[in-house]
Amino acid sequence: MDKRGKGLNTICTHVGELEDTKYKGAVSPLYMSTSYAFDDVDVKRYPRYFNTPNQEGLCKKIAALEHAESALIFGSGMAAVSTALLAFLRAGDHIVLQQTLYGGTYNLVTEEFDKYGISYSFTKGWEPKDFENEIRENTKVLYIETPSNPLLTITDIEGVAAIAKKHGIVSMIDNTFASPVNQNPIDFGIDVVIHSATKYMGGHSDICAGAVASTKEHMHRIFHLAKNFGGSLSDYTVWLLERSIKTMGLRVRAQNENALAMAQYLEAHVDIDAVYYPGLTIHKDHELAKRQMKGFGGMLSFELKPYLDASLFQRSLKIIKSSMSLAGVESTVLSPTQTSHALMSAEVRAEQGIKDGLIRFSVGIEEPEDLIADIEYAIKKVKKETKTTV
Ligand SMILES: *Cc1c(COP(=O)(O)O)cnc(C)c1O
Repeated sequence: MDKRGKGLNTICTHVGELEDTKYKGAVSPLYMSTSYAFDDVDVKRYPRYFNTPNQEGLCKKIAALEHAESALIFGSGMAAVSTALLAFLRAGDHIVLQQTLYGGTYNLVTEEFDKYGISYSFTKGWEPKDFENEIRENTKVLYIETPSNPLLTITDIEGVAAIAKKHGIVSMIDNTFASPVNQNPIDFGIDVVIHSATKYMGGHSDICAGAVASTKEHMHRIFHLAKNFGGSLSDYTVWLLERSIKTMGLRVRAQNENALAMAQYLEAHVDIDAVYYPGLTIHKDHELAKRQMKGFGGMLSFELKPYLDASLFQRSLKIIKSSMSLAGVESTVLSPTQTSHALMSAEVRAEQGIKDGLIRFSVGIEEPEDLIADIEYAIKKVKKETKTTV
């Protein structure tokens, strides 16, 4: 139950829906207008002002899902990240960010912030004290991502939020990997929650969008920058995203179950070296994950034994596809060494624990038996094909 007294799937299905007063249709009408008369109303509606009927409806749903007072939807996850960050940072300010971050966020900070005179530090670890250690007099924002990509590390949300409060700093989280189904950081004291809605909110690998949720006061500040930056989402996509979120609770809960089943299967497998999934009791932060998550999510990663070739393994899978993105209803894998972390030196990768045999697995809603059979088949094929060369 959220504070408004409605449960997850009720919020997903109904909060923010627009009534079709004319034809009594079952779903929200889609208002594509970019122009609205304003002579008899006090709001000037315009897509880039983030206030068309469909935008406002969906923002209500997202705010309710994150137990927030208010929310905004953006044209991409990175539009949400960049607008939220720059709303609280100006020249001369400093930000502390978690060591492992989504690549796009890392690039935004390291490629752009110098231009704006904003300095930054990355933490040396994931403990709240690692964040406190980096705080300076001019630090304005603490930024975390949990579970993280690709090793599914867990950051203590309540611990980091408390440090931010103690120092009068705004705390932000990228909550994409968990989704609002599994984790509501505002309940643990976080100020600003960010999502790439391209992932679990969209859930079908066909929408690119972002969202930010927070207090009315913070969202007001973010809105002012948002309308100047212009990163709004088209109303048609807003409408599609509203439809997608109706089944988010069902999808993500099924993905939680499947991911746990896959993690347990892989953990017991002789050809697998390690499995990283916060739902496994062997995960080093399983207890912390249990405290702050309602489900452990659909993302996991695992290491193939060194004698198995990672690219050949991926190519040999039939149901599970190789894909850069994640969180769709279909299962996908990628090799961080060859994709998201390819530009890092081998030494930095080794430092961060990213081995060549590491596979990131976004678990979908297929039947787990079929996913297991697919992996079994691929491992056998790799063994057979490499025996001749090894
Ligand atoms: C994909 C992703 C983003 C960026 O979102 P886009 O919609 O691609 O702009 C940010 N954070 C995380 C954790 C992501 O997975």
